Amino acid sequence: MTKHVIIIGGGIVGCMTAMELRNQGHQVTIVERNQIASQTSGESSWAGGGIIFPLLPWQYSAPVNALTRTGADAYRALSQKLLLDTGVDANFAQSGFLLLPKFDTEAALTWCQQNHVAAQTVKASNFGVQSLSGENALWLPEVCQIRPPYFMQAMRKWLEQHQVNMLEHTQLVPLQQVSELHTWQTTNGETLHADQFVVTSGAWSFELLKDTAAKLNIKPMRGQILLYQPKENLQQIVYREGFYMIPRLDGYLLAGSTLEDVGFDSGVTDQVRIEIQAKAEAIMPSLKDQPVIKHWSGLRPGTPENLPTISAHPTIKNLYLNTGHFRYGLTMAPASAKLITTIMAGETPQLDASPYLCAQ
Ligand SMILES: Cc1cc2nc3c(=O)[nH]c(=O)nc-3n(C[C@H](O)[C@H](O)[C@H](O)COP(=O)(O)OP(=O)(O)OC[C@H]3O[C@@H](n4cnc5c(N)ncnc54)[C@H](O)[C@@H]3O)c2cc1C
Repeated sequence: MTKHVIIIGGGIVGCMTAMELRNQGHQVTIVERNQIASQTSGESSWAGGGIIFPLLPWQYSAPVNALTRTGADAYRALSQKLLLDTGVDANFAQSGFLLLPKFDTEAALTWCQQNHVAAQTVKASNFGVQSLSGENALWLPEVCQIRPPYFMQAMRKWLEQHQVNMLEHTQLVPLQQVSELHTWQTTNGETLHADQFVVTSGAWSFELLKDTAAKLNIKPMRGQILLYQPKENLQQIVYREGFYMIPRLDGYLLAGSTLEDVGFDSGVTDQVRIEIQAKAEAIMPSLKDQPVIKHWSGLRPGTPENLPTISAHPTIKNLYLNTGHFRYGLTMAPASAKLITTIMAGETPQLDASPYLCAQ
């Protein structure tokens, strides 16, 4: 049966959920308080680095890795499909991931072996990268990246082509407790009707739902990133102790990012710029002469253990949650969208959905 579904939030998670629902033949509206696929105040998806891999997966639980793995596996075909359908190239690239010491070599190698992820210990100098210690680096050649602003543009175009209704510059008010949801008010007094609603509002999800789901543990975690255009670029993503550099296909280089608990402040700071520059120059000394082209931030939907909520609302019928993807929403989005739409259809998902239930 065709349903009308309203999705609240047009980041990667909302857009991917819309795509799944549209593919199932439903009528879909995305409500976005800003503009989909643009850099506005704090949204995470435009701002993200675009590494399609959970940095150090051996540090995460099986439910987190189940989503990142399934999501990552979908990206090559998804990017090709978007290019074919929309003409927008999301710059999907298998750049590989060079992990510089210090890290837990044994845990890393064991995890990679158990999960069939190619990994090889190497000398960082063989990759033209400065290593502060003489210890070996780890090379993960299969790790991929996308360019988030381009990916979001491709998604937006695909959704337009497939008649997904986009209500932009429209904000929904915080929800009050009801037993069944059929309508939701906008901040300018309009009443929106639907058969089902999905909250994909990222860092703002708790503000929207706190009167109905007090245990939903999501808060903004700011990340700042710098952009360079170096004369000579890296050939692979490089990571050292919480810091990464991502070379883009057209010669740009990203360096970041921070994990800051500063509420909904989506500004950038000189102090962080200086810190990131120092870390980048330690890996790539030639950056000392290079200006920072751009400096931005995004508010991640921060959650304990990086575990998102992908489930029906615990008490309100017709309401679903797909939110709280924290550091890996880009990577997880395809798997997460598939999971929530399977739950909404009342079908049995392939992934065990129990770890992502909304606490009551
Ligand atoms: C610096 C940085 C680097 C990152 N790097 C990576 C990476 O390399 N790989 C990776 O996998 N992930 C990365 N991430 C994380 C990833 O970007 C996020 O997990 C993901 O974007 C979350 O997507 P989302 O759609 O849930 O949230 P968002 O993109 O924030 O979208 C939520 C949307 O909801 C809208 N909204 C909120 N409230 C309302 C309302 N009341 N009414 C209407 N609309 C509303 C907002 O305007 C917003 O557009 C990074 C994040 C940052 C900040």
